[in-house]
Amino acid sequence: MKTFPMFLQMTGRDVVIVGGGEQAAQKARLILKTEARIVLVAPDLDPELTALVRDGRAVQVTTLSVNVFRGAALVFVATGCVGLDYAAHALAKEAGAMVNVVDRPALCDATTPSIVDRDPVVVAISTEGTAPVLARQIKSKMETLLEPGLGGLAALAGRLRPEVSRRVPQHQRRFFWDWVFNGPPRQAMARGAARQAASLIKDTLAAGGTGAVQGSIALVGAGPGAADLLTLRALRLLQDADVIYYDRLVDPAVLELARRDAERVFVGKEVGASSWPQDRINAVIVAAAKQGRKVVRLKSGDPGVFGRLREELNAAHSAGIAVEIVPGVTAASAAAASLGRGLTERGQTDRLMLATAACKPGDPDPDWAGMLQPGTTLAVYMGINKARTILSDMQNAGVPLSLQAEIVSHASTPRERSISCPLGQLPAALAQGCIENPAIIFIRWPKPAHAAAQSGCAA
Ligand code: SAH
Repeated sequence: MKTFPMFLQMTGRDVVIVGGGEQAAQKARLILKTEARIVLVAPDLDPELTALVRDGRAVQVTTLSVNVFRGAALVFVATGCVGLDYAAHALAKEAGAMVNVVDRPALCDATTPSIVDRDPVVVAISTEGTAPVLARQIKSKMETLLEPGLGGLAALAGRLRPEVSRRVPQHQRRFFWDWVFNGPPRQAMARGAARQAASLIKDTLAAGGTGAVQGSIALVGAGPGAADLLTLRALRLLQDADVIYYDRLVDPAVLELARRDAERVFVGKEVGASSWPQDRINAVIVAAAKQGRKVVRLKSGDPGVFGRLREELNAAHSAGIAVEIVPGVTAASAAAASLGRGLTERGQTDRLMLATAACKPGDPDPDWAGMLQPGTTLAVYMGINKARTILSDMQNAGVPLSLQAEIVSHASTPRERSISCPLGQLPAALAQGCIENPAIIFIRWPKPAHAAAQSGCAA
């Protein structure tokens, strides 16, 4: 690091801004967020700065001298005139001040970072001048992660800290604050219900704290692979989890986003190895939550689409453990996006059928032809090894073999591949194209042109 981040104490201190125009006003706006006294050094001030002096938010000094800088916490030089900037810089240095000269990095002892302001929570970002665009990107990410009410919650926590020390036994305090910032108070604040957040905390305090730590289970959709297709809620839960149980199809890049010290347990099926039986998965996630841990069960795509959600929900419910479902981007959505198409197309397909070729053992085979009527997009999950059966079912039922089939494997990841062929050539095209799992097979049967025209359907 060529520069070192520090947060300066501002209450009751002077910040001197040399200049009376827009550049100086920009710095004044920043410093107005603090409790410092602003000293404006300039013979003339623009209307915004004049108003600050009139309202008692700043004082004006008309002549430049070394004395004006003595004892200042910080000096900004923003005259817009080279000669004046250098002169003011020299005087400020003579007074021993820390100086920032706008747009003249060589004259700066300190630079202002990009700031995400949730006062009293403040995030400062710097790239030491190397990549301002990157700093802005990071800032906009932080802006979405830190909801506007977060500062209010932190301020409230600060005010209640002495009361918490009195009422909550020391060994429970970390859990108490964890509950405040991850549990119902934070959720209430995020919804904008500040009063509800405050009364939740105060009522819990009055009752002596949160008591025993409650574990929880979140059944979280990891999306189709690309880490940036994860939802913000999934990201928050990953960063908060004590333990994460994940599947084979969950991309390592998604796991990277989890809290560093979260335990990660693979419960999927390695190729050629035996998988964890569902009962065992149910048992371990419930056992971990019973120990008071925050469990994330991370499943590919959307956990509610061919994800055996019901079994895990039931296990949590019967153990009396709080459970939540976090939807994700399902593979069919990502695969259609990769093809540059919608899942439905107005006037062509106004029905979307998601089907799996891997049903419960003993269940009858899916009625493939029955699913595919005119006006349908059929998206088949786990269907690569069943392509022959799908084709012969449809052929026997008289489905036109000229319909378009499109197959996308590893959608949204660097290994993504797609092919397209007439339905009649599906098995051969899969073999020729070496298309492997995971893949989605789309078969579309558009509405006949005259039906589309007559129905006037607003799909
Ligand atoms: N819950 C998941 C589906 C789990 S079943 C979801 O909503 O997406 C697993 C099947 O999903 C795979 O066999 C494959 O058919 C499909 N799948 C998962 N990820 C995929 C991807 N990145 N590209 C294409 N298909 C995918």
